[in-house]
Amino acid sequence: MGSTKYVFVTGGVTSSLGKGIISASLGKLLQARGFSVTIQKFDPYINIDPGTLNPYEHGECYVTDDGAETDLDLGHYERFLNVATSQANNVTTGRIYYNVITKERKGEYLGKTVQVVPHITDEIKRNFLALGNDKNYDIIITEIGGCVGDIESLPFIEAVRQFRWDVGHSNLLVIHLTLVPYLRAAGELKTKPTQHSVKQLLEAGVQPDILVCRSEKPVPADLRKKIALFCNVNFNSVIQAMDAETIYDVPMMMRKEKLDERVLSKLRLSTKAEVQIESWKEFLGRHKNPTEEVEIGLVGKYVELLDAYKSISESFVHAGAENECKVRLRYISSDTISAENVCTTIGNLHGILVAPGFGERGMVGKIEAARFAREQQVPYFGICLGMQCAVIEFARNVLGLSDAASSEMEIESKHFVIDLMEDQKRITTKGGTMRLGAYNCKIKKGTKIHHAYGKTKISERHRHRYEFNNKYMARFEKAGMVMSGINPETNLVETIELSDHPWFIGTQFHPELKSTVLNPHKLFVKFVKAALERKGKL
Ligand code: GLN
Repeated sequence: MGSTKYVFVTGGVTSSLGKGIISASLGKLLQARGFSVTIQKFDPYINIDPGTLNPYEHGECYVTDDGAETDLDLGHYERFLNVATSQANNVTTGRIYYNVITKERKGEYLGKTVQVVPHITDEIKRNFLALGNDKNYDIIITEIGGCVGDIESLPFIEAVRQFRWDVGHSNLLVIHLTLVPYLRAAGELKTKPTQHSVKQLLEAGVQPDILVCRSEKPVPADLRKKIALFCNVNFNSVIQAMDAETIYDVPMMMRKEKLDERVLSKLRLSTKAEVQIESWKEFLGRHKNPTEEVEIGLVGKYVELLDAYKSISESFVHAGAENECKVRLRYISSDTISAENVCTTIGNLHGILVAPGFGERGMVGKIEAARFAREQQVPYFGICLGMQCAVIEFARNVLGLSDAASSEMEIESKHFVIDLMEDQKRITTKGGTMRLGAYNCKIKKGTKIHHAYGKTKISERHRHRYEFNNKYMARFEKAGMVMSGINPETNLVETIELSDHPWFIGTQFHPELKSTVLNPHKLFVKFVKAALERKGKL
């Protein structure tokens, strides 16, 4: 289909306008017309990746198959497009500078002063192109994180300005996302913030081709005309993006506003192919018209910021739709659960999910939640730390090892049933040193996990340091905890389950990272089913 076309998505006025969702929605529409599309995100912060950030700082850290710790927007890209992303899809200022400084130390710029322009901007441009090197995409969408006008995004905007000349004007377009706020006191929508934001882009030498205007209310034609006039864009390139009921409505909303058509015509690509989006519409239909409802508790310690569990909550949307069931997620702070109040805090739920996490805070509550679920036969899903909590609880209360613990927690114990592997013990640095990315797992036939996946060989994504301690395996299995999934190369335990329980499963991996709209994760689908069955029995 000829050479690759580049779409850049920038944002202005405020953050949190939803550049990631607009990018993913545009990607979906272009993909639905038969174009091969990928999306990448450039983040203007100095961390090499978000792996060392607290979830409160930046929401969840999304992990790709190749073990990259990335921005949560990559999760949206995968969930919308149903194609895997990789390290190359997320680049930060930190990584750009790291690469340039490493080259400088090697002597690659010998004799030259290394500067933001051209060395940093050249490295940014090299990374704009990186995804196209091994695969031939028709369209690469690049989201530039942060806001236009911020000091730290300047080199990225400058790189976009130069790149337009490198690849040619008909091969690149810029979509700028802005806010058109409604002033209640004046009873009016205001265009000035959009005008100012576009001016800032223009000062940096970048003329946006399309403006996507986020707004609480419809942006009428006369206002769009005004925006077009002041911002040098065609009237039909001022697109309104109203607040949506769910993020999954946005592709259809953008279709209605003809965002995809504008993009294709500006890139001189054929708009003839019809949008094939039936399966997406079917999903929306099921998602919006549930026939049942269950309530599932998400027990974690970052519950004040829902973005910290983004992939898990989205996986429930996919699994809910698959079951035609509304999943009401109740976020429960693990700090608030104790042995005394566990029954009153989580007693009436149809399922309990204990979330991934790090460190000691909240462990007591998570372990209590696992005990309650095991004893009361409530469907339980433990992800990563949630699996480790189920193991510790079982060791303490079933095997009678009352001091059983994870060596991650600073406590004295003779029984570290969750422990560091030898190769992890030697590691002293924090960035990118966990067990990260996709690993194979062999599933035992006849187990609940086997029933869910319907196969014995799977691959799932990991992000953790600690593991089940195989020294205890025989004792656990004898008492009824089945090690149902094992890593065939290392023999590490990847999944556990209880044989005498309706649905009690723990996974050392993160299944939520692989659930998409078109491919809801089987474990979430079965967990919701088990919750429905529990509800039926109450
Ligand atoms: N803190 C645990 C570990 O490092 C679990 C990590 C997680 O839940 N992602 O092994």
